[in-house]
Parts: sequence; C-alpha cells; structure tokens
Amino acid sequence: MSEQRTAIVTGAARGIGSAIARRLAADGLAVGVLDLDERACSTTVTAIVDAGGRALAVPVDVGDEQSVAVAVDRVAADLGAPTVLVNNAGITRDNLLFRMSTEDWDAVMDVHLRGSFLMSRAVQVHMVEAAWGRIVNLSSVSALGNRGQANYAAAKAGLQGFTKTLAIELGRYGVTVNAIAPGFIETEMTAATAERMGVPFEDFKAAAAAQIPVARVGQPEDIAALASFFVREEAGFVSGQVVYVAGGPRA
Ligand code: NAP
Repeated sequence: MSEQRTAIVTGAARGIGSAIARRLAADGLAVGVLDLDERACSTTVTAIVDAGGRALAVPVDVGDEQSVAVAVDRVAADLGAPTVLVNNAGITRDNLLFRMSTEDWDAVMDVHLRGSFLMSRAVQVHMVEAAWGRIVNLSSVSALGNRGQANYAAAKAGLQGFTKTLAIELGRYGVTVNAIAPGFIETEMTAATAERMGVPFEDFKAAAAAQIPVARVGQPEDIAALASFFVREEAGFVSGQVVYVAGGPRA
C-alpha cells in the first residue's frame, strides 16, 4: 500500500472510540476523530499528532443525516476519501421496560442503529469507488439480553444483523464488515452505570472481574486491538463476523 488510507471513528473523543482512533493512527492511517463536541475530540487528536500521526477533529451527530453528510465530506476533503469506518458512538438510557420512556427508546435507536446506518451509507460511496473498505460496528454482550437494557440490547442485537447484511451486500466491492461485541470495558459509560446503581466504581469493577474468566475487566485497548486486526489488508477474507471480546465466552 503506497497511499495512506483514511479512517473515520465515531464517538472518538473518549473511551473505546479514542483508543481505536489512536491505534489506527499508530497503524499508519489518517483518522477522522468524530464526536458530538468538536472540542472534546482534542485530547484524542493531540495524542495522535504528538505520536507522529495525522488526525482531524470533526463534529457530528451520527443520528442526523445532514450532520453526517457534512462530517464525511469534511474528512474526505481534508484527510482523503475515508475507506475505513468504525461505528462506535453510543449512549445508554437504562430502565426496566415498564419505566422506559419512548424518548429513551428512540434516543438509543437513533445513535446506535440510525447512526450506524447513516454513517455506513455515507462512507460506502468512497469504499465502493476505491474497491476496498472496512466497516467495524460496536455491538455488545448486551445483545444476548441484559436486565434494564431492552433498548440498548435490541440496538446492539440489531447491529449484528446490520453487520451480516452489509457484509453480504458490500463484499463484491472489496469491503468487509465485522462487529465487535465487548464485555465490561472500563470507560465513562461503565463508570456512569456504577454511579447510577449507587456502587463505587472500584467495587463495581471488582464484582465484574470476579465473574470474568480472565479475572479482570477490559480496557479500551483490548477492543482497539481487534479493530486493528479487522481493518488490516490481510483480514480481507474475514467478513460478517461478530467477535465477543469479554475475557471469556460471555461476560
Ligand atoms: P463512552 O465513554 O460513553 O463514549 C461514547 C462517545 O460517543 C462519547 O464521546 C459520546 O459523546 C459519543 N456520542 C454519543 N452520542 C453521539 C452521537 N449522536 N454522535 C456522535 N457521537 C456521539 O462509551 P464507551 O464505553 O467508550 O463505548 C463505546 C462503544 O462501545 C459504544 O457503542 C458502546 O455501546 C459500546 N460498548 C461499550 C461497553 C463498555 O463496557 N464500555 C461494552 C459493550 C459495548 P458525548 O460524551 O458528548 O455524549
């Protein structure tokens, strides 16, 4: 490969998305660091640039069609046509079904499902033109069912069907599409869950680790390592797969 490839990572201001953006930059890709708040992206962008990489902070609301179009155009113009997309942006709005508001159902669907759809549709144009591409979607062990997460579990299970369908449709254009389903990863998302449950984060992590075969919780870099593999040239025959990264068969 002579020309530098360009990747887009959504929700890359922090947590798993930031780790994936930094890892792909270290692998030699230029990275569009997309998140709701452009200023919040600066930590990730600075880390990449300080390490000698290329990155650009771009604001986006992945659930908004116009915002997605503008963001993808900006990356294409400033970094080069994006041929790698990591749909990582995510939110939780947990509640038991009888207490779950319609707004909380819609908000989760908008970011995870509508967001991944809009981003993938916008970026696949560049992939098909290049006859090469990589899409990585962030699912979750919650796709298998998780109390209090009917909205999130449905969205994360939906992303698995989305992944397999895009793999079938886009394979002929040299595009692979895979999903990563993380278990417990130490980020602000899991810290917020602990806070909501009134449990100190250290105790929450220890309780989770006690149930995980490798006896620890995951770190964002554990997810970035698999994203790095899926995106590689040599992974071109791996498509439509969902890999659970949970320290065991299921967290
Ligand atoms: P996080 O720390 O909460 O980071 C998520 C990022 O996505 C935030 O920067 C957030 O921005 C951004 N975001 C939210 N809505 C957005 C939108 N509409 N458009 C653009 N960006 C948006 O989450 P994380 O723990 O790193 O999780 C990353 C992904 O992995 C998510 O898809 C999550 O569901 C999945 N996952 C996480 C775990 C885990 O244990 N942490 C496990 C399984 C799956 P704001 O801060 O401005 O809201």
